[in-house]
Amino acid sequence: MLKMQGLSKVFQIEQVQTHALRGLDLHVREGEFVAVTGPSGSGKSTFLNIAGLLEESTAGSYELDGQDVSRLGDSQRSRIRNEKIGFIFQGFNLIPDLTLYDNIDVPLRYRGLGAKDRRERITSVLERVGLGSRAQHYPGALSGGQQQRAAIARALAGTPRLLLADEPTGNLDTEMARSVMELLQEINSAGATIIMVTHDQELALRASRNVHIVDGHLSDLVRQPGGLAAA
Ligand code: ADP
Ligand code: MG
Repeated sequence: MLKMQGLSKVFQIEQVQTHALRGLDLHVREGEFVAVTGPSGSGKSTFLNIAGLLEESTAGSYELDGQDVSRLGDSQRSRIRNEKIGFIFQGFNLIPDLTLYDNIDVPLRYRGLGAKDRRERITSVLERVGLGSRAQHYPGALSGGQQQRAAIARALAGTPRLLLADEPTGNLDTEMARSVMELLQEINSAGATIIMVTHDQELALRASRNVHIVDGHLSDLVRQPGGLAAA
């Protein structure tokens, strides 16, 4: 589904260049659940943002569903993002003065979906993450675990085939982290491909494959059962 080759990313701020990615190679097949670990600053978020077409690589190739997406214009990137990709961030990124219902509705409106379709999607994803009775609550009235579930519901409402999660359990206690992980595993079982960045080894081991990023590329110290991701 996703094929990256020789991906590099250089951030340039005034005179300072940062090499966030240096020749990253990764293949992910449809239906995989890949956990990405690595030290802080090793390029994990940069990799995920490029995978989700939020950022462009400086060099290298990226194919999504067989299409070269490494050099697309903004409007094409956001179209593909809307169609195929869901994002879950560590900080939840919920809008505080909108109810959960409206938080989930915002991206669906952007997609131009009709009112009835939106209502059905919102009700069904809130049920799915166990927040069916909280549709009219504001994010501030929810626990961290519930907010993360709401953020997952928002990502799911667009029925993405590829779900990208950047430290989705980073702000949660162990029990809540496990329940978020279980939810992600269910979503994966239902067919979505998931790439999750985490620093939690125990959760990483529950994914179907583990990759380790060090210094902007995959470390080959971690065994890759998929066989396709050798660095
Ligand atoms: P990780 O998620 O593994 O902690 P990041 O991908 O966030 O790592 O960052 C990798 C490197 O790129 C770091 O040195 C970071 O400071 C740098 N970096 C990330 N984003 C930017 C940016 N927008 N501008 C400049 N440097 C950045
Ligand atoms: Mg990060």
